[in-house]
Amino acid sequence: MKKAIFPGSFDPITLGHFDIIQRGISLFDEVIVAIGVNAEKKYMFSLDERKKFIEEAFKDEPKVRVITYEGLTIDLCKKEKAEFILRGLRNPADFEFEKAIAHTNRRLSKIETVFLLTASKTSYISSSIVRDVIRNGGDFTVLVPESVKIK
Ligand code: ADP
Repeated sequence: MKKAIFPGSFDPITLGHFDIIQRGISLFDEVIVAIGVNAEKKYMFSLDERKKFIEEAFKDEPKVRVITYEGLTIDLCKKEKAEFILRGLRNPADFEFEKAIAHTNRRLSKIETVFLLTASKTSYISSSIVRDVIRNGGDFTVLVPESVKIK
């Protein structure tokens, strides 16, 4: 069984993440979306909200599971018996950043990182842009799955 961990903050999930998860499903038997908990980071949405948005977006997809975790992603991979980490690449900046992490993970474990190039129609979307649009009262709904709601 081929399992991949798709790690991230997902604050909130965007159509870009959605696209990567959907395409990941065609490559792996299970895609575990893993929301990283970083005590030093301030989030717009609570962990519970971020988890629910993703679960709701994939409620009809049995190959997607959503979990939360602390610590190293490679340790989570070992715990979940996942041999792959899935990441999306939007631009050269993503590539440079991801390259160093993937090399480090390879040095520390046997886990392979699989990169998917983002779909061109969602490549400009980031959670931070979505948060900016929300803060300033714009129509964020065109950037995220329907499950993302603000209170
Ligand atoms: P992180 O805090 O780890 O950057 P994110 O939630 O921002 O977490 O992103 C998680 C993953 O989703 C990363 O691999 C990132 O490159 C990818 N990603 C983010 N936005 C998009 C997008 N618009 N299209 C495709 N992949 C994306």
